[in-house]
Amino acid sequence: MSTKSFRVAICGGGIGGLCLAVALSKHTHIQVDVFEGAERFKEIGAGVMIWSRTWRILELLELAPHFAKVADTQPDPAVATGFEYRRSDTKDGFKWNLVAMPYAFAEQLPKGLAHFRRRLVSYEKQAGGEIALTFADGASAVCDLLVGCDGIKSVVRAQMLRVKAKEDAQPGLLNLIEPKWTGTIAYRGLIPSTNLPSVDGARHRTLASPMMYCGQNKHVVAYSISQGNIVNFVAFASDLNRKNTAYGAEWVTNCSKDEVLQCFGGWESEVSLLLEREEKPTKWGIHHLEELPFFVTNRVVLLGDAAHGMSPHLGAGAGQAIEDAYILAHVLGAAAPKSLDAALEAYQQTRLPVANHVLRSSYESGNMYEFNSRFGDEYSALGPAIGHQWDFLTESTPEGEAEKAMRILRSLERQGIIRERL
Ligand SMILES: Cc1cc2nc3c(=O)[nH]c(=O)nc-3n(C[C@H](O)[C@H](O)[C@H](O)COP(=O)(O)OP(=O)(O)OC[C@H]3O[C@@H](n4cnc5c(N)ncnc54)[C@H](O)[C@@H]3O)c2cc1C
Repeated sequence: MSTKSFRVAICGGGIGGLCLAVALSKHTHIQVDVFEGAERFKEIGAGVMIWSRTWRILELLELAPHFAKVADTQPDPAVATGFEYRRSDTKDGFKWNLVAMPYAFAEQLPKGLAHFRRRLVSYEKQAGGEIALTFADGASAVCDLLVGCDGIKSVVRAQMLRVKAKEDAQPGLLNLIEPKWTGTIAYRGLIPSTNLPSVDGARHRTLASPMMYCGQNKHVVAYSISQGNIVNFVAFASDLNRKNTAYGAEWVTNCSKDEVLQCFGGWESEVSLLLEREEKPTKWGIHHLEELPFFVTNRVVLLGDAAHGMSPHLGAGAGQAIEDAYILAHVLGAAAPKSLDAALEAYQQTRLPVANHVLRSSYESGNMYEFNSRFGDEYSALGPAIGHQWDFLTESTPEGEAEKAMRILRSLERQGIIRERL
């Protein structure tokens, strides 16, 4: 293994895992391997929005030029598009708020050191401190640090919580393993802009502005992607009484156009006209995690959806995964092998409170769009409250968070927090 100081195994090559792999690979003393269960990286990005804060992180990681080539909107922090919020579950819908927000863009896969068809089944801490990994095809590998970037159904999280529940005699931790259904379903579709009808003789509004059509227990998000050639819509419907009940094994299924139209019957025509243009909608059960009390145990770390899988109502899951990757790479890059545990503790102290806050806020935002929050449909209070849901984007800077993590790392190093500690 020669010149490398320590070996990091990244389980899962989604947005979070790939971002971490690219960031870590700049530190030539760290050996990085990405083990991806699928036979290739999935196409990520169509319709995924990221905010300017995340763009800043991509700049800091020197990834921004690659993303700019495929972004729908070229990065310009001065440019702010906004969702137009409408009450739409009546025939005569009306606009009630506009929230200024940064741009959205489609993503490009960063490249990393990848091993495909390597689906992690379990890991085991060896006596010497190494971690042995076992894959579904019988292959194995060893590392000094395992990062679970394996999404909301993470096997790394499941094993971590099972081990910790036993070690600490805390059976309650087992309840945090499975993602919970939020009681919301989402219908998704992509429509060529040329298929979008005009409304009362005017161009469909969603071609000009990202739209948030709101109604009681339901809302529809629609915005154009691919340089305006395609309109992406996600139509949500919630039943609060079914929150935390079983959804079923398949989270994503095909459904009929009629089901979607029936669900949104009685909505204003610009919504119906949009929904009826999708011939093959898909239906998603929206799940999220309960907040975890830790992201790190014993040289095993969680990142992205594996740590804080959240509902999509703030468009923040990918951004939070990228921010995790940025901070973790920052502290690992600066840590000596003997202070790896201090680096992991610094990552956890920096990221856990923020990511869990965003997880909570995402769920609450869905309630706000559907008039189910404590503000009901009191538009004057609800508008500003929705705006504040995005405060986490500007309350700190990525550079400031990285400095904070470094301060924690150096302080723990001074206190002599070394590998035996965790
Ligand atoms: C409807 C919807 C809309 C969304 N819209 C937005 C948005 O606008 N903006 C935004 O920021 N976020 C959005 N998100 C959330 C965002 O897509 C996720 O937060 C993000 O993709 C999480 O990235 P990840 O790398 O943590 O996990 P994933 O993207 O889930 O990647 C996990 C990877 O691990 C692999 N894997 C799984 N198990 C194993 C295993 N055992 N061994 C090896 N590999 C394994 C998988 O194949 C996959 O490649 C949305 C989500 C949904 C459902």
